[in-house]
Amino acid sequence: MIESLLIANRGEIACRIIRTARAMGIRTIAVYSDADANALHVRMADDAVHIGASAARESYLVGEKIIDIARVTGAEAIHPGYGFLSENAEFAQRVINAGLVWVGPNPASITAMGLKDAAKQLMQQAGVPVTPGYMGSNQDPGFLAIQADGIGYPVLIKAVAGGGGKGMRLVERPEDFADALASCRREAAASFGNDHVLIEKYIQRPRHIEVQVFGDSHGQIVHLFERDCSLQRRHQKVIEEAPAPGMNAATREALCAAAVRAAEAVDYVGAGTIEFIADASEGLRADRIWFMEMNTRLQVEHPVTEAITGVDLVEWQLRVASGERLPLTQAQLGINGWAMEARLYAEDPERGFLPSIGKLEHLVLPDSLRVDTGVEQGGEVSPFYDPMIAKLIAHGSTRDEAIARLEAGIDDTEVWPVRTNAGFLGNLLRHPEFLSGDVDTGLIGRDGDELVHPIEAEVEELTEVAALLAASPGEGPWSGALGFRLNAAPHAVARLRDDAGAVYEVPLDEVNAAEPARDVLAFTGGFARRYTLDRHEGAHGGVAGDGTILSPMPGRIIAVDVAAGQTVTKGQKLLTLEAMKMEHTLTAPFDGVVAELNAVAGAQVQVEALLVRIEDAA
Ligand code: ADP
Ligand code: ADP
Ligand code: MG
Repeated sequence: MIESLLIANRGEIACRIIRTARAMGIRTIAVYSDADANALHVRMADDAVHIGASAARESYLVGEKIIDIARVTGAEAIHPGYGFLSENAEFAQRVINAGLVWVGPNPASITAMGLKDAAKQLMQQAGVPVTPGYMGSNQDPGFLAIQADGIGYPVLIKAVAGGGGKGMRLVERPEDFADALASCRREAAASFGNDHVLIEKYIQRPRHIEVQVFGDSHGQIVHLFERDCSLQRRHQKVIEEAPAPGMNAATREALCAAAVRAAEAVDYVGAGTIEFIADASEGLRADRIWFMEMNTRLQVEHPVTEAITGVDLVEWQLRVASGERLPLTQAQLGINGWAMEARLYAEDPERGFLPSIGKLEHLVLPDSLRVDTGVEQGGEVSPFYDPMIAKLIAHGSTRDEAIARLEAGIDDTEVWPVRTNAGFLGNLLRHPEFLSGDVDTGLIGRDGDELVHPIEAEVEELTEVAALLAASPGEGPWSGALGFRLNAAPHAVARLRDDAGAVYEVPLDEVNAAEPARDVLAFTGGFARRYTLDRHEGAHGGVAGDGTILSPMPGRIIAVDVAAGQTVTKGQKLLTLEAMKMEHTLTAPFDGVVAELNAVAGAQVQVEALLVRIEDAA
C-alpha cells in the first residue's frame, strides 16, 4: 500500500480524498494557489505546498510543478481528483515516468476515451450500442450537413474534445445547421484547442444514465450499478441519484453489462464512468440506451454510488493503484436503498444563475446529511474556480425518503451574503414530475422560471424577525423613532423590508422580543432573506402605530383599493405599488378610517411619500 499521496486538486474533492487517505494511514500532501492559501484542503492535509498564482493555468494545471513537489515532499503517488489534470493522458504518463504511482487508469485508456468520436468508434467495435450519428474524420461543412440530413433532425453537434457541457449545439432545422456548426467550431477551438465535431441524433425526452465501473490491474472489472443525472441545467448536472427511477432488472443487467464491455475494451484500471443517453419516451428499455462518452476518473456524483453500495470509491482507487485486487466481486455488490445528491452552487438563480463570489460570512450546512465541501464559514468563493460550495448527499430506504431528507437538509442550509441555488434545489425536489420519477434533461429548461421563484416567507418567520428588530436598543439608528414599546401598543405593526425590497407588515401585539438586532437573516427552504425595519417609515414611526402609510421605495402606484373616508379593517388591502419589478401590497395596520389619501393609480411616487393615513376607529 502506498504510504503518501499528493492531491493535485482543490476544494471539496481534495478534502474528500484526504479524508479517506487519512483513515487509511496514508500521509497527505496538498498543493495550493495564491487564492487557496487559507483553504480547507490546505489545513486538512499533513503537508501543503504553494504552487503558483490563482489562475488554474498557473497552478493546478502546471503538471511539471506538481511532479516536482511530489519528488521534493517524498510523495509516492498522485491523485488528480476530477477536472484539472485528471483526464490528461500526457500528465499521467509523466507521473509514471517520474517513478510515481498514478491514481487513475493507464494513459492509453485515457487517450482511447479522450475524444468522443474515436471513443464511439471503439465502442461500436466492442459491441456497445452508441448514439446514432456521424463520428468520422471528414469535417467538410457540406458533407456534415448531408450527414445531419441522413441522421434526421433534430441533431446535436458536439465538439469531439468537449467536456463540462460545453461545445454542444442543438439544431432543430436544416437551415440552421451551417451557422450552428460554425459557432460550435469557434467555441470548441477556443475552449478545447480542437475544432473537430461529431453529429448525433438528438434523443427525445432524454435521460442521462451512467454506470460506475471499476477495474484492477489483475484484469478484473466490475460495475457498481447506475446513477441517473437527468436533472441538468444547460447540460450540467444539478441533482443526481442512484439507482435510476423506473429502472427494471432486465434493462439494468443489459446496461451494466454494456458498461463493463466498454471498460474491458480499453483494459480499464481504476474508477471510471460510462455515460449513456436513454430515450425514455416509453420507459427505460435496453434497446433505447446508447453510449455517449466515458469519463476516465472519479465523478463529481460518486457519493450516491457510495451511499447505495457501502463502498468507499476513493479507498478502492488507492488500493487498486497500490496493486491490490478489487475488494469485492460482482456477486458481492448490491444496491441498498436510494441516494440523492444536490450540488450547492454559489450562484444567483434570480439573476440568470450568475456566479456569486465573495466571503462566506454566514455558512451553515446540514448536519443531518453527508456533506462534501471544501469551504467553511469565513472562507471565500473565489472567481478563479468552479463556484460549487458543497454537495449534499441524502440516503434513505426509498426514493421518497431520500428526497425528504435532502429537502430537510436544504431547509437547514444557510448561506449569506453569497447567493446560492439552495432555494432552487428545494423547488426542484418538490416538482411533481421529479417526485413521480418522470425525469428528463429538459425538465429544468421547461419549468425554469417557476423553479427560481422564491417561496413565500412564513408568518412565523416574519413574526420572529419583527420581534428581534423591534427590540433594538435605544442607541440604534431608528429605535428612537419607534414610537411604541413592546407589549404596550395593542395596534403596533412592524414594517419589515427584505433585501429584495418587499415590505411586510407584521402585527407585534403578542410578541416578546429576545435579543435586539439591527438586521435579521432568515432562511426558508433554502431561500435567504435579510430583513431590516423599514427605515423610511421609521422616520415617521418605524412601526406604523400612528397609521401613516409611506411609500417604502420609489415606484409607481398601480392600484388604489380604498377611497377617502372609507372604513377599513386591519390587514385590508389599501393599494399596490410597483417597484424594483415587483408588486408590493400595502395594507391597513389596524381597523380605522382612511383619513388622508394621496395615492392615485398610475402616479410615480418618491420614497417616503405619505400615501395614506388611517385613523384609529376607536
Ligand atoms: P461530471 O460528469 O462528473 O459532472 P463534468 O464533465 O461535468 O463531470 O466535469 C467535472 C468537473 O470537472 C466540473 O465540475 C468542472 O469543474 C471540471 N471540468 C470538466 N470539464 C471542464 C472544462 N472543459 N473546463 C474546466 N473545467 C472542467
Ligand atoms: P460532456 O463531455 O460535456 O459531459 P456529454 O456528451 O456527456 O458531454 O453530454 C452532456 C449532456 O448533453 C448529456 O448529459 C445530455 O444531457 C446531453 N446530451 C448529450 N448527447 C445527447 C443526445 N444525443 N441527445 C440528447 N441529449 C444529449
Ligand atoms: Mg458527460
